[in-house]
Amino acid sequence: MDRDLVAARLREIVGPANVSTEPAEVERLSKDYYWFSPILERQLAGKVADVVVNPTTADQVREVVQLAVRDGIPITPRGAGTGNYGQAVPLHGGMVLTLRGLKQVDEIGKGHARVGAGVRLGAVERKARPLGQELHIYPSTYVAATAGGFIAGGNAGVGSITWGTLWDGNVLAVTAVTLEDPPRRLVLVGEDLNMIIHSYGATAIITDVTLPLAPATPWEQCVLSFPAFERAMTCARDLAEDDALPKRLVSVHEWPIPSYFGHLAREDAIVPGNACLLLELADGLTGSVSRRAADYGGTLTWSAPSRTYHRGTAVSDFSFNHTTLWAKRADPGLTYLQVVFDRHTVLSQMDQIRQRYPDEIWMHVEYMRAGGQVAPRALPILRFTTPARLEEMQDFMDAIGAPVRRPHSCQLDLSRNRYLEPITSAKRLWDPRGLLNPGKLATAPAGEGGRSV
Ligand code: FAD
Repeated sequence: MDRDLVAARLREIVGPANVSTEPAEVERLSKDYYWFSPILERQLAGKVADVVVNPTTADQVREVVQLAVRDGIPITPRGAGTGNYGQAVPLHGGMVLTLRGLKQVDEIGKGHARVGAGVRLGAVERKARPLGQELHIYPSTYVAATAGGFIAGGNAGVGSITWGTLWDGNVLAVTAVTLEDPPRRLVLVGEDLNMIIHSYGATAIITDVTLPLAPATPWEQCVLSFPAFERAMTCARDLAEDDALPKRLVSVHEWPIPSYFGHLAREDAIVPGNACLLLELADGLTGSVSRRAADYGGTLTWSAPSRTYHRGTAVSDFSFNHTTLWAKRADPGLTYLQVVFDRHTVLSQMDQIRQRYPDEIWMHVEYMRAGGQVAPRALPILRFTTPARLEEMQDFMDAIGAPVRRPHSCQLDLSRNRYLEPITSAKRLWDPRGLLNPGKLATAPAGEGGRSV
């Protein structure tokens, strides 16, 4: 079967405007933010789909899948394409299936939102807040990121300091289409969600999701500056572990990382040479928290009242992998890692790293709750020299008890998801021909079954 014939059949299902074989468009929609990694940048260059299809209903998704399954065509699902590891890059051609067309908000009920997989998380939050509710967690890319893409590709974000990660009850239900013949629609809840959360879209295609909502809090934002990074870390830990303190973000950055935050610097929030702590706190708490921070040498250098939340400058725009984005914009030779530090010995682990790699790696930590425990999760910025040096750094961190979640690979492995076993079983059961995002599961052979059109 040739590409034009497949495109013609897809047009019959989704309408002519929702299929593209135009090379520039297909190339654009075959990429995500994999360029954060110099390794992936090289590895994934030139990987493109043959055709892009944009269904607008769950029934259309099912029909498209039926066609792909019958003809053995690989499918790569895509939300907004903000993933970092080439998760949404088609390794074996075929179709990119964009889910952005599934944009219905079915229900904003008390304590939950049921939405199409393509709805942007920013839109859910925007609709929920006037109803007195807000999302538990969202990635720093929430303005663009889709609900389905977050569940399939993300893990934590703003709000995780209180509510934990995607695995901590922050997804209530998912409806997904399998790649069996005929495709089935499944509703997944409870433990079964582990078969789809952070699966890189390799087990089933999410068509709608139910996310929990909490009563809305008016959030203030602030920046605190510290001459010593270690004291910023200790202050951050003190605030992060204070259960009585309502907060949505606790993000710590070693100098020179704050020097990349141009927008905050223009508002005089950044003190040259200082570490900074970015916080989202409930209304009225900035004053008392600043006084607490003074005990650690911290000074309040910027704040924003709750009425400006989600308008104008937002500290979350410099948190999570947005930190890496600003660093790379300032200096393309930089890249990042994802490291799970030990919460008791984090500072001595960081010391060991600094001694071994002076002037090569700088710390960025997001305090969050994971499995109920407050933990320092780091996305340090580092200067890339060679793949061997990067590998050595990662091995060193593993060896000192600070395991690295290998972000310079597009394959999902145990370092990134401890539920690899349920995901692998789901893959076998729901995608027996190995057509869904082939090559992304370390436990499933690359490209099994699928072929380009
Ligand atoms: P995509 O990138 O389009 O897809 C992600 C993965 O999910 C791909 O494997 C894709 O195949 C699959 N997929 C997409 N939609 C579906 C579907 N409907 N069904 C099945 N599979 C699907 N991540 C975080 O967790 N927290 C953060 O704070 C965070 N900050 C970031 C900051 C920056 C600057 C960048 C570039 C990335 C960041 N990320 C973060 C990663 C990413 O933005 C999020 O995970 C985001 O939620 C992905 O959503 P998306 O719609 O862009 O998904």
